[in-house]
Amino acid sequence: MDKSNTTHDLPEASKRFTSALKKEVNADTYERWFQHLEVAALDDAAVTFRVPGQIHQLWIESNFLGLLRSTGLLAFGGERTVRFIFADEAAPLEVPAQPPAKKPVAIEPDAEAESTPNHATSGMNPRNTFDSFVVGANNQYARAACKAVGDQPGKTYNPLFLYGGVGLGKTHLMQAIGHHIYAKKKGAKVFYVTSEKFTNDFIDALQSNTIVKFRKRYRQADVLLIDDIQFLSGRERSQEEFFHTFNTLFDGHKQIVLSSDRPPAELDGLEARLVSRFDWGLTAELQPPDTETRVAILRKKSQSLEIHLDADILNYLADRVRTNVRRLEGALTRVASYASLSGQQPTVEKIEHLLKDILQEEARRSVTIEQIQKRVAEHYDVRIADMTSKRRPANIAYPRQVAMYLARELTKTSLSEIGEAFGGRDHGTVLHAHRLVKERIRAEEKTRQTVSFLEAQLHRGG
Ligand code: ADP
Ligand code: MG
Repeated sequence: MDKSNTTHDLPEASKRFTSALKKEVNADTYERWFQHLEVAALDDAAVTFRVPGQIHQLWIESNFLGLLRSTGLLAFGGERTVRFIFADEAAPLEVPAQPPAKKPVAIEPDAEAESTPNHATSGMNPRNTFDSFVVGANNQYARAACKAVGDQPGKTYNPLFLYGGVGLGKTHLMQAIGHHIYAKKKGAKVFYVTSEKFTNDFIDALQSNTIVKFRKRYRQADVLLIDDIQFLSGRERSQEEFFHTFNTLFDGHKQIVLSSDRPPAELDGLEARLVSRFDWGLTAELQPPDTETRVAILRKKSQSLEIHLDADILNYLADRVRTNVRRLEGALTRVASYASLSGQQPTVEKIEHLLKDILQEEARRSVTIEQIQKRVAEHYDVRIADMTSKRRPANIAYPRQVAMYLARELTKTSLSEIGEAFGGRDHGTVLHAHRLVKERIRAEEKTRQTVSFLEAQLHRGG
């Protein structure tokens, strides 16, 4: 197989690729999404596909990216960065001197998303800017903190610690800081990295005896953005290394921004001396967006996709997908793709069909304590009021404990909030209930069955 940079026969490569792809997808899917796909450029590092337009790109990105990579591996040998261009665009020069600016959007292969400080904003998504971030009550504070840090890195809040659930904009805001700083000061060494990548780089450096280079690379950053710090948990040597990186940067008044899925105090498996440093600057939480913010996010996103969806549809989506902005965007993309290809605004039935898995996933995640209390009370035939009452006969106390157990397992609520919802009990009571029910599940088959039955019902929204 020819692997040199310049002599790829593109029609031949397209043919090889599409015939491999045809074996992987059904005829309908192929016809709808891939019949116009061509290989527009190919070298050892990247493959650029030409697709009819942005909708095709988005749909393929969100549904078939893994497939393109694996098929590419088969057809061309070797993993490549996947890029897209649209039908009316010229192919990029092979081996571009400059990384392409806006389009084509590059998606790095996960394993090797490069982020070296010599290329200051690499590894960051160019779309994650302050401009594209919708502000609502849920993220106002975090956004303001990030803006302040972006305006005066190393001077206001150091470190800045962002935390919150999945898909709520931590990575977006963090990278917005990076882009903002880089835009104001070209040449600033903005270094974005996930804590996993940090760990992997560290292990590589140990193995290849390049630890000096590794240290220099990380410690010369002007701004270090380190994402999903919870993954350092239990990795002692990486933590040790990060501790020294942190100290060097901090002492040099370089900005450090960290993100995590939980607040510093709840980071189990991380050394105390490290965690205590996370509190030195400012800690900001991102919460799930309220309805207005969700609608605003959908509007902004459909504008940027240049797509029109009826207000009813946007409201419907905002109502059904509540806990995760990434999922909300995914839902919008699917509905928008459908609307654009069919030339119709989809009906509610159609949307439910298109979003079946997303809606299921969403329902699974958003069980409320109230629903749990109601369902458990029904099941054991006690009154809902007994869930919150102070009465303690065993026929009431036990169902209440099961409900507390489920609240802890199925919701993201803290122990003390759960206690509060069960008639102002303290967190110790909830912990006790949780242990007791867990023990009974382990010991008694019947309890295990009952509890998993209740769980399944709640997940289905019943
Ligand atoms: P996290 O890192 O918290 O898991 P991300 O930053 O990756 O979440 O956000 C998930 C997706 O939702 C991204 O595409 C991001 O651009 C988008 N997003 C999240 N919050 C907002 C917001 N307030 N405005 C616009 N887009 C948002
Ligand atoms: Mg993230």
